[in-house]
Amino acid sequence: MTDIDVVVAGAGPTGLTLALGLARCGAGVRIIDKSPEPFAGSRGKGLSARSMEVLEDLGVVEEILAAGFSHLPQRRYLRDKMTFDADPYADRVPTPDMPYEVGVMIAQWRTEQILRERLAEFGVQVEQSVELTAFEDSGETVMVTCADGERIEARYLVGCDGGRSTVRKSLGVGFEGESGSQGMVIGDIEVDGLVGDRWYQWIRPEVGFVALCPFPDSRSWQFQGVPFAGFDDQGRLPEPSLEYFQRIFDQVAGLDVRFSNETWLSTYRVSVRMADRFRVGRVFIAGDAAHVHPPAGGLGMNTGIQDGYNLSWKLASVLAGTADESLLDTYGEERLPVAEWTLEVSNAGLARVVESMAGEDSQGVGAGMAPDGHQLGLAYPGSSLSTDLDGSRTGVRAGERAPDAPVTDAAGTAVRLFDLFRGSHFTVLGFGAAGAPVLRELGERFPELVKCFAIDVDLVDDAGHARSGYGVIEDAFVIVRPDGYVALTAPLAEGDGLAAYLGQFAGEMLPIRAR
Ligand SMILES: Cc1cc2nc3c(=O)[nH]c(=O)nc-3n(C[C@H](O)[C@H](O)[C@H](O)COP(=O)(O)OP(=O)(O)OC[C@H]3O[C@@H](n4cnc5c(N)ncnc54)[C@H](O)[C@@H]3O)c2cc1C
Repeated sequence: MTDIDVVVAGAGPTGLTLALGLARCGAGVRIIDKSPEPFAGSRGKGLSARSMEVLEDLGVVEEILAAGFSHLPQRRYLRDKMTFDADPYADRVPTPDMPYEVGVMIAQWRTEQILRERLAEFGVQVEQSVELTAFEDSGETVMVTCADGERIEARYLVGCDGGRSTVRKSLGVGFEGESGSQGMVIGDIEVDGLVGDRWYQWIRPEVGFVALCPFPDSRSWQFQGVPFAGFDDQGRLPEPSLEYFQRIFDQVAGLDVRFSNETWLSTYRVSVRMADRFRVGRVFIAGDAAHVHPPAGGLGMNTGIQDGYNLSWKLASVLAGTADESLLDTYGEERLPVAEWTLEVSNAGLARVVESMAGEDSQGVGAGMAPDGHQLGLAYPGSSLSTDLDGSRTGVRAGERAPDAPVTDAAGTAVRLFDLFRGSHFTVLGFGAAGAPVLRELGERFPELVKCFAIDVDLVDDAGHARSGYGVIEDAFVIVRPDGYVALTAPLAEGDGLAAYLGQFAGEMLPIRAR
């Protein structure tokens, strides 16, 4: 049997998050990428509030915050008239249950660099210039073949290899949807003539839309454009060039702003497609390999990061021999509906952006923002891992995101629930001192799996934020999964139900039936 647990094919944000989630659990990971160098473009530049929570758990949130802008103001022009100049999220502030009220604007290459550096702390380096060309799943292991002839045997393979995924195509998984509905241009350039303190957007309904977004401590800006004309007879945009980008900008914005020093330029047409399955045997797909959609609302990279995060703890539990293989079916069960939602809202967002550009009241890219574009309300209520035991009376239900709350620990130190959740363990919260004996027993029975905290005993909920965040009507137990979603809620009388639930992840090898 091979000592490589997982080959991750593709070191974009999805593959890096997955590899990091696996590596911190001690799984043996190889992460390969066909490109000779890490990707250098700013592409997916918005991390959502939920992704920030994921990145906090993975130990990189400070670096991300330092390298990005939160609350970047936006200035919009319709023709030559300024119509908006403010932070569209000025009214959002952190709350005890939600530490990141908004996301961060940060170049994708920088997010990837930060994830790569963190991964290296676990001794895992991205192997550049290593291209997966084929694989074979024997049922026991997967044999990956690389372009240079190298063969790598691993227990699982995850294709995080982007929209044109070789892994997905080799699996024969359907990728239904549409290609090429809207032409767009994007690139990284230097800009003379603007101050880099806001995200500028210009709309000239007869000509098109352009936007320029700065990044902190960098001369580079992201240029985005939606030209309404200039396609060839096949509907294709011209080849990307600095001159072409400058021309679109001049036509739409009509300002004396000059572009130079391009480092990445792209013209593309958006596709809306998703895979019909995310797993075949020992092979999975995640991120753009599993779903592609318009950039409206900035959900692409975030959905990939959260795919990787969802899969990593499940694979790690199965690899450690503590959970039955059937746990892996819950990856698709939980993430397919999220991908469906993402396609739907980003497509509707794009339609709104395009429609609003033709009118006199355009909200620029803001029109593309999805309801819950911060992704804090995404949940797995129908998942076979989500259980509300009879009689449980909490506002938060199984499958929902577990809220944060400031509390005080037994030593009198201020801590946040997110500090206690950090890592790959389950956390059991007991609201009410009467739950403490059950929690002690669970802690003794599953020492590797859980951390247990009785509120009013181990933690003091001074200001009542934990109780209100979880909507505790009557004293209750709440189990929180390693990825920060509520696994189970139960009344204090149902302590046995907790042990039965946790046993599934502690070597009792009970099959989990994905619904
Ligand atoms: C032009 C463009 C503009 C975009 N703009 C935005 C935006 O404004 N906002 C937003 O949210 N999102 C945007 N996106 C989407 C966002 O960038 C993606 O959703 C995100 O990069 C997905 O991450 P990923 O890791 O799944 O895939 P990718 O980032 O595509 O990474 C896939 C990796 O796999 C590697 N690879 C491919 N094939 C193989 C193989 N056979 N073997 C080994 N390695 C392989 C590639 O080299 C690459 O590094 C944009 C995408 C594109 C293409």
